[in-house]
Amino acid sequence: QPVIVWFRDDLRLSDHPALHEAASRGAPVVGLYVRDDESRALKPPAARSLGGATRWWLAQSLRALRKNLEAIRGTLVLRTGPAASVIATLARDIHADAVFWNDIAQAPHQAIARDVASALASDGISSQIFPGDLLVDPKFIRNKDNRGLRVFTPFWRRVQGLGDPQKPLPAPKKLTSIGDITSEAVDDWNLEPTRPDWAGGLREIWTPGEAAAQARLKAFLDENIRGYAGDRDRPDRDGTSRLSPHLRFGEISPRQVWHAARFAAAEHPRLAGDIDKFLSELGWREFCRHLLFDVPDLAVRNLQEHFDTFPWKCDARALKAWQRGLTGYPIVDAGMRELWHTGVMHNRVRMVVASFLVKHLLIDWRAGEQWFWDTLVDADAGSNPANWQWVAGSGADAAPYFRVFNPILQGEKFDPDGAYVRRWVPELAQLPNDLIHQPWTATPIELASAGVELGKTYPPPIVDHKQARERALAAYAKIRSKD
Ligand code: FAD
Repeated sequence: QPVIVWFRDDLRLSDHPALHEAASRGAPVVGLYVRDDESRALKPPAARSLGGATRWWLAQSLRALRKNLEAIRGTLVLRTGPAASVIATLARDIHADAVFWNDIAQAPHQAIARDVASALASDGISSQIFPGDLLVDPKFIRNKDNRGLRVFTPFWRRVQGLGDPQKPLPAPKKLTSIGDITSEAVDDWNLEPTRPDWAGGLREIWTPGEAAAQARLKAFLDENIRGYAGDRDRPDRDGTSRLSPHLRFGEISPRQVWHAARFAAAEHPRLAGDIDKFLSELGWREFCRHLLFDVPDLAVRNLQEHFDTFPWKCDARALKAWQRGLTGYPIVDAGMRELWHTGVMHNRVRMVVASFLVKHLLIDWRAGEQWFWDTLVDADAGSNPANWQWVAGSGADAAPYFRVFNPILQGEKFDPDGAYVRRWVPELAQLPNDLIHQPWTATPIELASAGVELGKTYPPPIVDHKQARERALAAYAKIRSKD
């Protein structure tokens, strides 16, 4: 009898425990992806609907998965509706005797999965859940009060103390097919933008899917890992893996990344420091996901309660200027435009733009988190809110609120030749290096010779850095004094 494998955020064939187990039974395997906004919305706190950029990615990734499954004689069925009834109906229709899936360690997804399991059980169909897309199940990293750890360093030490995760599983070579089963079409799901089609920049630089994820990992470890520990902070260099959207959709598993990196470290001992740093970034992903497991409403609730009375400003104009990359601070504007065009932003710049929104503009971090959620191709239910709370200072292991990034110094330090700004803010490209991060300090002659007209071709700063810093500290002092 056939087995159904329910795919979710694990759109790959290799190191897919549920698929591996189904294939090893030798029975026909049917892959299924359910588009289920209904149950997502019902489970408190709701699993968030995808943003625009992740919808685009999902469409490409499902096409890639279908192709990969068909290449080994498998099939991918797409259906829309509440997961419990869709899966139980398909299982009955094809006389499946079991449904397998990998866990997603997030409360709403686990609640939906429980409904699926009970709908199947009432039809006498078994279900089996396999380890999900984490190095360690959050249930295994707890403190004495049975809470997840809230500080990264001890957390990561505990994870590393468990030793290497299990070796990745191979992809099945061949599946037994079952004949035609009706499926909806990705094209009919309207996941991709049409009018206007803003996805041109995404198409230009990204190739979603498992093969591209593996190729990216290999290229990174072969060519870019050397110097990662330093280069990862430089937005003007191609110094990071760019694996985040592939990891977000489970086109590659963290175990695969871990073992490939460890293998590279064994082959090239001189790279050990860079590889350790890279693995600790994977550790941050893990930390954010574990935090989300403990705090399902991470995207809406301040982890530090005294932030609940923070005097955020409601400033729609400033928010819009930030979203469009028109704040007058070149490093901030470059980041926001990179995000709009490519669906990602360099990590250092994410920190700078987030700090700018929260501290310079005093806009609630949730507004920034929501914008990132909609525009990032790697928008992640754990990493996005956890990092926003970290930057805002409201998070668990957070940057202190009084540390206010200076966008000029950040630009000068991490983009010293202005190459990143020149790429994304071309109207400033002709300015010399010492002015490119602070064009408003240029003389009229310098501006004219670079073809810049402040207020016309590029905005003056939306806030003065020094005043904004003082205003932020005063606002912070208000909530501290209430403690
Ligand atoms: P690399 O440097 O090659 O790192 C390898 C992997 O480690 C990444 O692919 C990612 O999975 C993980 N990682 C690296 N840094 C972090 C981090 N700080 N937190 C969690 N995981 C990390 N990352 C997301 O994947 N999704 C998000 O929605 C997201 N939102 C963010 C919001 C803000 C305000 C900030 C400051 C950071 C956010 N990050 C997010 C983290 C980080 O910016 C990206 O993971 C990184 O830029 C991705 O590029 P890369 O794959 O080349 O990273």
